[in-house]
Amino acid sequence: MRHAPFGPTGRAVPVIGQGTWHLDEDDRAAAVAALRKGLDCGMTHIDTAEMYGEAEPLVAEAIAGRRDEVFLVSKVLPTNASRRGTMAACERSLARLRTDRLDCYLLHWRGAYPLAETIAALEDLRTQGKILSWGVSNFDEGDLAEALSLAGPGRIACNQVLYHLQERAIEHAVIPWCQRHGVAVVAYSPFGSGDFPDAGSAGGRVLAGIAAAHGVSPRQVALAALTRTPAVFAIPKTGRAGHAADNAAAGSLVLSADELARIDAAFPRGPRPRYLPMI
Ligand code: NAP
Repeated sequence: MRHAPFGPTGRAVPVIGQGTWHLDEDDRAAAVAALRKGLDCGMTHIDTAEMYGEAEPLVAEAIAGRRDEVFLVSKVLPTNASRRGTMAACERSLARLRTDRLDCYLLHWRGAYPLAETIAALEDLRTQGKILSWGVSNFDEGDLAEALSLAGPGRIACNQVLYHLQERAIEHAVIPWCQRHGVAVVAYSPFGSGDFPDAGSAGGRVLAGIAAAHGVSPRQVALAALTRTPAVFAIPKTGRAGHAADNAAAGSLVLSADELARIDAAFPRGPRPRYLPMI
């Protein structure tokens, strides 16, 4: 598993981590086993959120006795992101996760509360040691510039954004901005959240051909393609231990320049959209 420094935290974090959205809808024992298998295979970055129903308690069960191995991330909902609301939401997540600190805490997306209020709360939480770093999610480059101007350099650990082969909008401006400012990019829904290219489609056939050459799966090729860029991490979700092992193995897969060019041709970036896509 390849590791990279996670933005200004400098923490070495695996390029492939584990998502947990809808994990509480899977068979619970299988979901816990999948997260544990993922940890065994080096996917120590676990992403959750107060929004994800029973996912936080499920993560608590999976990481029991293994907390120090994990780079644990949760998120505050924008509707809770006032100064006091952020502090309270963090306490609730810590309790549900049965831990005393988060490695990173994110604003899930921008809402009505002024960013300055949320950032002040995040800084308080950091000073208190309840979070070791904080970041944002679904921020376009304008939002990022505003956050930077409020927080100062070296504070925004990451921006978690939608990124998969069929949705490459962040390549236009968000990834370059994050690279310039040392902010980690975390690709969510790297498999298109259930809309992975069909094996019979033109793009699916390109992925299959490259996968066959490496003896891996098309999904592993997709993860390797998305994380080719320095400072880009991906967090696929799975409720199956076998899938977790497969996803982790993609963290060691290196594609050639020719293979990446074929993928880029099959999944073009497209024009820059007016608004950052999100789900
Ligand atoms: P995703 O990871 O793109 O796709 C998940 C789907 O892929 C599931 O149906 C899963 O099924 C399947 N899958 C995973 N590994 C597989 C494998 N090796 N082989 C075959 N199928 C596989 O979708 P996502 O959950 O939307 O995104 C990932 C994570 O990103 C979320 O869980 C969440 O933590 C985060 N996220 C953040 C935001 C945000 O606003 N910040 C938004 C969306 C998502 P199985 O479970 O059956 O394997």
